[in-house]
Amino acid sequence: PSVFEKVPGAPEDVIFALTSAHKADPFPNKVNLGVGAYRTEEGKPWVLPVVKKAARIMVNDDSLDHEYLPILGQDAFRKAATQLILGADSKALKEGRVGSAQCISGTGAVFTGAQFLARHYPIKGATCYISKPTWANHRAIFEGVGFTVFEYPYWDAKTKGLDLKGMLIIMEMAPAGSIFLLHPCAHNPTGVDPTPDQWRQIADVMAAKNHFAFFDCAYQGFASGDLDKDAFSVRYFVERGFELFVAQSFSKNFGLYSERAGNLTIVAKTPKIKDQIESQIAKAQRAVISNPPAYGSRIVSLVLSDKDLYQEWNQNLKSMANRIIEMRRLLFNELTRLKTPGSWNHIVDQIGMFSFTGLSAPQVKVLKEKYHVYLTDNGRISMAGLNTKNVQYFAQAVDDVVR
Ligand code: PMP
Repeated sequence: PSVFEKVPGAPEDVIFALTSAHKADPFPNKVNLGVGAYRTEEGKPWVLPVVKKAARIMVNDDSLDHEYLPILGQDAFRKAATQLILGADSKALKEGRVGSAQCISGTGAVFTGAQFLARHYPIKGATCYISKPTWANHRAIFEGVGFTVFEYPYWDAKTKGLDLKGMLIIMEMAPAGSIFLLHPCAHNPTGVDPTPDQWRQIADVMAAKNHFAFFDCAYQGFASGDLDKDAFSVRYFVERGFELFVAQSFSKNFGLYSERAGNLTIVAKTPKIKDQIESQIAKAQRAVISNPPAYGSRIVSLVLSDKDLYQEWNQNLKSMANRIIEMRRLLFNELTRLKTPGSWNHIVDQIGMFSFTGLSAPQVKVLKEKYHVYLTDNGRISMAGLNTKNVQYFAQAVDDVVR
């Protein structure tokens, strides 16, 4: 008999399962609104032109080789990534108290920060709070490193907006020094972000309770098309003097999904504390991945350090953000034209890759079975999966299931 006889089978990942089901479906008008990956108007993945250009430069650069990167990754990439999120003129950067670690994309950065906190956060038994709802991996990662995970209210089903009051109450009630996982922009899955004034209120409570802010930034520039605007919350917290972590992903804003380019930015009180944290993260990273991959991070650092490439990247980013904003408008217009029951303003008010439609699990089931439209049971749709050719079909299907 096998020693693994008693290993129970684990459920398949919901998003990846949707992608395979969509792939296997022969129906010509099928629509995949599951995966959070950008698609063109033709429904195809998009290699950003600036990424192609950078890749061509790299191929012809004889100084590049396949030697190991340092344990904490490529210096130029780490520097560029921290500057991108904090702003080049950040006081914390100038004071030398910002550290970083190149990680296996956003997921790896969340894991690396969570693992560090599990080992070194000084408050015994501190719990981690995640938004309700959130990206499913947040719970999996924090529980995986040993944290107890609670939820704070976020989505208000009634207003289809932010439940700020509920959020602040839980922040006040949570034991001092709790860890709060925050989405700086383009909240996944709801597409609902706090306004600058609401961030101020959140920061007030978090400061008063000495909570630790862990930002997970997977969509900088992708939300509004403006890199600075999307970084407002993080920069504001840094200005307020918080020590904090930011997990950064370049999957979406560079379209580098499979290249796993990510960074953990560490804002500490002093340069010395920053060094202590970095050294522990290096020690831990050595035992997990040994050192990070180079291809994606080289593309990112090349683009971020060259004025022309940077500008071109901004244009590429804007075109993605704008196409998504345009799809929101088209979907909203179609539902309005069809006089679909209910209010649909949230479709245009929400931001980023996703929209939380308010569709129920049974409605989602009909969309899948009758219309071959694939989305998660919580009613989240990836706006990037829509285009001018399928938006009418999708709106008609939604109209049918809500009636
Ligand atoms: N955080 C959030 C909220 C996300 O939506 C994603 C992408 N789905 C990630 C992190 C990380 O993605 P990746 O590991 O591909 O960078």
